[in-house]
Amino acid sequence: MGRAAIAAPEVSVGEHNDVRRCAFCGAAELEPARLTMGQSAAGVEVTVTGVPGVRCRSCGEAAVPGPQVFAVDDALRAVLVAAGALPASVLEQDAADIVVEPVAG
Ligand SMILES: [Zn+2]
Repeated sequence: MGRAAIAAPEVSVGEHNDVRRCAFCGAAELEPARLTMGQSAAGVEVTVTGVPGVRCRSCGEAAVPGPQVFAVDDALRAVLVAAGALPASVLEQDAADIVVEPVAG
């Protein structure tokens, strides 16, 4: 589909979607975690919590597997379009700004 391997600036699952090894510190210390993803545009903010992902026990970084990141991102953008914060044309574009933030606790 021509998408970039990963669009999140701070969270990645690595070049081969290997979620068993941390993309940041390389440790094989990943454990299941519930994460929050969000996007905002024109003052409208959309977040989804409880997204299944992984968190590194060594460095604390979190990641959501690539296919899920893109699917959730598409859904978030669709909400922003529905809210009038983005033009419908963005739904035809590749993911640009994905923010994935780990949920405390
Ligand atoms: Zn790590």
